[in-house]
This record gives sequence, C-alpha cells and structure tokens, in this order.
Amino acid sequence: MEVFIRVLNVGDGDAVIVKVIDTDRKLVFMIDAGHPYDYEKVSKNLKEVLESVELPAPDFILCTHYDNDHIGGLLKLVKDYETQKPSVWIHATSEKINVKDLTELVNHEPENGIMPSEEDDNLAGENSANIVYYQNVLTTVEQEIALLEYLRPAGFSCKEPLAENFKIDQWPELSILSPTTSFYETLFPEHFSTQELVENHMNVLKGAETDQKISDDPCKKLDLKKSPITATNMNSAILMLVADGKKIIFSGDAGIESFEAIPDYKNVLDQLYFLKVPHHGSRNNINQELIQLMKPRIAVISGRHHVSGDVLACLKATCEEVSVTKDGQDIDVTIP
Ligand SMILES: [Zn+2]
Repeated sequence: MEVFIRVLNVGDGDAVIVKVIDTDRKLVFMIDAGHPYDYEKVSKNLKEVLESVELPAPDFILCTHYDNDHIGGLLKLVKDYETQKPSVWIHATSEKINVKDLTELVNHEPENGIMPSEEDDNLAGENSANIVYYQNVLTTVEQEIALLEYLRPAGFSCKEPLAENFKIDQWPELSILSPTTSFYETLFPEHFSTQELVENHMNVLKGAETDQKISDDPCKKLDLKKSPITATNMNSAILMLVADGKKIIFSGDAGIESFEAIPDYKNVLDQLYFLKVPHHGSRNNINQELIQLMKPRIAVISGRHHVSGDVLACLKATCEEVSVTKDGQDIDVTIP
C-alpha cells in the first residue's frame, strides 16, 4: 500500500489531500479546505491528485470542525463535485447552537473593537470589545450552516464524523479516533448556553500563547503554562489510517483532552509513522507525554503564527523528520 499526503500551505489553516493506492484499490480524500480565499489553490491541487489516479472525484471529504481556517474553502470545493456527490463527514454542531441568541448578542453590543484577522486571532488586544468575539463565532458557525444548507438539498450524504459512526466501504484501515459520541456530548451538551460558548472563545482568543523560558528541555517547557482551547477545536475529528501497520494520524485542531479521551489512547497512539500536528503547532494542544508516546517518524505542522517554538523543538528532538508549511511550501509525504 502506498500513501501520498499533500499538506497545503494555507497559513494558519488546514487543507490536506490524501491518496492511497493498493493492489486492487485506490482512494483519494480531502481533509478540510483552508480559508474561503484558499479555494482556488485547494481545488487545483485536488484535481491534480485525482487526475494522477484517474478518479473523477474524491471518495469522501472530512471537515474536522467548523472554524473558518478549515471549513472556509469547503463550500466552493464541494460544488466542484456536485455531480459525483462524495460523502461529506461533518459535525452538525451549528444545530446545537442557538444562532438567534448569538445574532442578538452581536446586534446588542456596542461596536468599538477591531475584528481580529485570520492571521492574528490569538493576538487580539485587550481593548477589543466583546462584539468582536460574538461576531467571530457567528461568522464561523454561519459557514457551517451555509455548507449544510447547500449539501443536504443537493443530495450529498452528510454524516457526523464520530468514532462509532465512521466507516468507509472497503477501507477498514480508516477510522475516526475522536470524538466519541460521549466526548462530543460533553463538549456540546444538548442544552448549552450560547453565552458560555462565546465566553469560551473569548478566553481562548485573549489567552497569551507564549513559549516558556524556564527549562532548557523543549519537551519539559511544553508542559508549562497552557491556555484553554475552544470546544470546537477540542471536537476536531481525529482520523487514523493504518497502512501496512503504519499509523498515520490527522488531528485537525484537537486538544490534549481529545487525545486522552480516545479509548485505550496509550495503545492506540503508541508509535506513529505520521502525524499532522494539531492546531497549527500551538503549544496549547499537545504536551510532552503525547509527543513522546506518539513519537511520529514524520511530523508535519500546517501553520504560521500559531507554531510554537517549544512544540517544534520537542518534535525535532523526538521525530526523524519535521516539516512546517510556514517555511513556504506545500509539503508532500510519500509513505511506501
Ligand atoms: Zn485551525
């Protein structure tokens, strides 16, 4: 079995194309599609990979979670495959969020803040008003709503990427490790308050993401001060492909708790071949224990501003190969 992975450089965002070729089977799938403005790049690259195996469309598309830097390019991308209708695995989290409440919060707060850009959403100044955060959450949630509103009437099959649900015909090597249904329900319970969701986002955006200077060991430094992460990041679908015994993991923006919520995680995550590092290399989403447990032979970070020096240094001390899209290019990995 040969696996080809292309991690596109879409700044602090994710767009990953995976092609798998086996004796009598071939598969192409897409994980996320970057920001809305990344569509052209993502579309062109996906077409190129599909042509290389003479497939008309990807077998499936996975949207790890509804943040703009993952879901943004998807709405246009799925329209490229309107005829073939690949199945789309996507959390319908927006159905659990009271959008009317959220819209009211946006409309009632005085607007005196500056909308943090995609590139510096963690650097928002203290003076930014709450409106910025409400608007930010609303914008991303609305993208998921728009996507679902297009996909369902157009006849695409949309399924929740939950550990118990996920299944790709003829490819038992693929599984979703997280979230399990119960973990998803802890993150987004039936009746959770919109205010709480927004506050959670605000705390995260305001949290400083600074590397620590106390220890010389980058892996130890990684375990010092962490900021919280959002429920939607924590809810990111973690996909695993096991190719001839080699564990290949794509982790969206999942957090430490997401990995630890995987049943029997110490065995499941032991010794990876490939890891798409969570959350653009942020120090808040991974720790020493996980890196040393996963010990990926190849680690790829798709990130720019989020990339933490400690995460990078700890990975470099642990893995054989570490690549970062920040360095300028798309990253191609072939696993024989
Ligand atoms: Zn992200």
